[in-house]
Amino acid sequence: MRPQQADDATPGHGPPERAGARWRMPIAARPKYIQLETVTKCNAKCPFCPQNEIVRDPARMPEEMWKKIVDDTRGWGITYRPFLTNEPFVDKRMPEITRYIKENDPTARVEFNTNGELMTEKLGRELLEAGVDILRFSVDGFSPETYEPSRVGIDYHKVLERVTAFLDMWARDGYRDKVFTELRMIEVPENSHEIEAYKAYWKPRCTEVLVTELYQWPWTGQKPEDVVLKPCLKVLDEMFFYTDGNATLCCWDVHEKAVVGNVTRQSVAEIWDSHAAACLRDLLDDGRRDLIHLCSRCNAYEGYDFSRFEHEE
Ligand code: SF4
Repeated sequence: MRPQQADDATPGHGPPERAGARWRMPIAARPKYIQLETVTKCNAKCPFCPQNEIVRDPARMPEEMWKKIVDDTRGWGITYRPFLTNEPFVDKRMPEITRYIKENDPTARVEFNTNGELMTEKLGRELLEAGVDILRFSVDGFSPETYEPSRVGIDYHKVLERVTAFLDMWARDGYRDKVFTELRMIEVPENSHEIEAYKAYWKPRCTEVLVTELYQWPWTGQKPEDVVLKPCLKVLDEMFFYTDGNATLCCWDVHEKAVVGNVTRQSVAEIWDSHAAACLRDLLDDGRRDLIHLCSRCNAYEGYDFSRFEHEE
């Protein structure tokens, strides 16, 4: 759940076992967002991203597994994000996966975050025809000098050319009102002088331009004494699956520290309702990130005001 969505959410009432928790977060009865790591690879080697540390097998999620996750959740109104800490279009099956999700469920939406380098005209057309709903392009700069040191291994001009060509097709072929497109840039001191030029170029070409702050992954230098004793918005309505079928608490759990189930042995509903998931959510509702290995070194939502969710006896 994003902070803006949490601002509008009604505080949860919670089952009796959560009665003592300090906060009552609005945990959804069923997830609204599902992320699937269909492959473990990326075409970039960005210094801020731990993707290159991933060693798990298989490198590619088997077809029967991603289909099971989709079939288990049909009709739930899910937004599927077929990527996790990887670049989605390294997986050539994305048009097929999008088609499978959309053809079988009118309530489903499909969303991608991509660095854009692999967005060929053929892929773009297939995705649009398959029914993709949201495409977000992460392009952190407006010149090779600012872009290439952070997106190591990717040619800036290729990204510029391919993303521009895709958006031209999107506008020309009548998808402007059907498919949401976004250009997003993480602002750092090196690229802040380019923000106005970035907006001037991209704003007329896509639905929205977003300039965001750099976030810090858990376990990347945070100290035990800096623990953030607050709940978390990430666990309220989202689920995350690795290529091996494991479900984890959080999309930032690159090293599988907080696994709550496995879809080869359980249904998606069973994992969402599982004791393991409930225990971790209860600890977070009590602000006890220090008792969860993964969360004990995470400062996400540190500045978010959780007071409206506070539980009064
Ligand atoms: S690591 Fe834990 S506290 Fe941090 S965003 Fe993920 S679930 Fe929330």
